[in-house]
Amino acid sequence: MKYLFRYPAIIVRAKAPWIALLALSLAVTLSEKAAAAKSDRPNIVFIFSDDHCQQALSAYDPTRISTPNMDRLAKEGMKFDRCYVTNAICGPSRAVIQTGKYSHINGFAVNGITFNGDQQTFPKLLQKAGYQTAVVGKWHLGSTPQGYDYFDVLVGQGPYYNPPMKTTDEKGEVVVREHTGYTTEIITEKALGWLKNDREEGEPFMLMYQHKAPHRNWEPAPKYLTWLDDVTIPEPETLYDNYETRASPAHNQAMEVKTHLTERDLKQTTPRNFTPDQLAQWNAAYGPKNEAYEKAKPYMSEKEIIQWKYQRYVKDYLRCVKSVDDGIGEVLDYLDDAGLADNTIVIYSSDQGWYLGEHGWFDKRWMYEESLKTPLLVRWPGKTEAGSVRDDIVTNLDFAETFLDIAGVSIPGDMQGASLVPLFEGKNPKNWRESFYYHYYEFPGGHSVARHYGVTNGKHKLISYYQTGEWELFDIEKDPNELNNVYSNPEYSSITKKLEKELSRLRKQYKVPEEDPDFAKMKAEARARNRRG
Ligand code: CA
Repeated sequence: MKYLFRYPAIIVRAKAPWIALLALSLAVTLSEKAAAAKSDRPNIVFIFSDDHCQQALSAYDPTRISTPNMDRLAKEGMKFDRCYVTNAICGPSRAVIQTGKYSHINGFAVNGITFNGDQQTFPKLLQKAGYQTAVVGKWHLGSTPQGYDYFDVLVGQGPYYNPPMKTTDEKGEVVVREHTGYTTEIITEKALGWLKNDREEGEPFMLMYQHKAPHRNWEPAPKYLTWLDDVTIPEPETLYDNYETRASPAHNQAMEVKTHLTERDLKQTTPRNFTPDQLAQWNAAYGPKNEAYEKAKPYMSEKEIIQWKYQRYVKDYLRCVKSVDDGIGEVLDYLDDAGLADNTIVIYSSDQGWYLGEHGWFDKRWMYEESLKTPLLVRWPGKTEAGSVRDDIVTNLDFAETFLDIAGVSIPGDMQGASLVPLFEGKNPKNWRESFYYHYYEFPGGHSVARHYGVTNGKHKLISYYQTGEWELFDIEKDPNELNNVYSNPEYSSITKKLEKELSRLRKQYKVPEEDPDFAKMKAEARARNRRG
């Protein structure tokens, strides 16, 4: 309706009658066009998970798990092999997606601070263009979501069971509601509930359906507590990495399967927020497994203990992924049944990758391949060729621009990524990026990963640990596991020089300041704000 009101205003102001007539006929044509364009505009379902790596998605790597519903998106759509994240940590990745801007521009570079929701974000722009917008599940940006017609999000990180969730009541007041059940399933129910009952029929929509899983501490759903008990998950080649040739940060981290998984991570203690039923199911599943381990442990070698920890950790992680995959299946089925699938673009991604034992690690943060890369699957009927695979360098910096482009909304000049729509259409745009800038800031912080930035072109990768002045260079084609730091190898000096130049070019292009902000002060301010309410 907003289109119809705009044009009569021109008519009233028009001085000559013929201008009025022209304006009137123009108004009719434009409003018809607008209405047609409006109804043609595709819906967007953005499915997002937390810490889900390519190694645990069978369309990328079938060795550990089968994810048939995610695979369906790859089979019916497009798979991106090189989707890089700008900063491999939860909240910051989400802030990049909201804004289409690097962490140093959107202001949310580390977890534990508050996202400034007053700034320009893509959902606000979609909303302005007539899209219905909704976000369900994990938000993790501190501030209340802005730019959404509907939100129902986990408070903070959110637990795996019985989550409190923040939404608005009938009066529009922000309220926190308690829930009983498994969080992944609750998020799916809420996403389906909005799709089925709460959105306006016939208006285009953008739904962000965002899981907490498979984030630490990997608590599986009741139905998957013993799934995978009778199999052995293959170990990665680098599970026993000793970090030889790497700079000091790889030696000094605190994210080793061997050392840093806690009793809670390993399910040697019981989560505290269970209902009696949940507790009984949990103890029935883990009790006997834990007893068997405690009995065997005195006779196990150090390596056998690492192997046990690895199996326990990875299986729980995969169990959590399985519930995410189930939920995606339900949503895809709904889109089919409701006749929405043809005009809905479905995207699957995660906030960053993850270590499933590679380099002996769990967690993320590094610019190394496993956490730099994230899954990206896109199904857009009539646009993405079924089963197609692309290896262009794409990034979560491109998502906001892509959503706007899909909706026919112009992309603001201050966004720093590029629309992926031409790639979805099978085109090869000239001047597509051939190198990528990465920057991680959260040190001191969880898992003690040093601050670093770097550049990669997919073949080589240069990393600067700028607080200790150390560098690493990897030949990714020859050394895909990134075990040999060749920074001081004279054979690579021309490549190093080229990448150093590219790094400083990208830092200038993206307006990266020389000094990092005072994160300790920002965190203290966020804590004080939270205490005040
Ligand atoms: Ca994450």
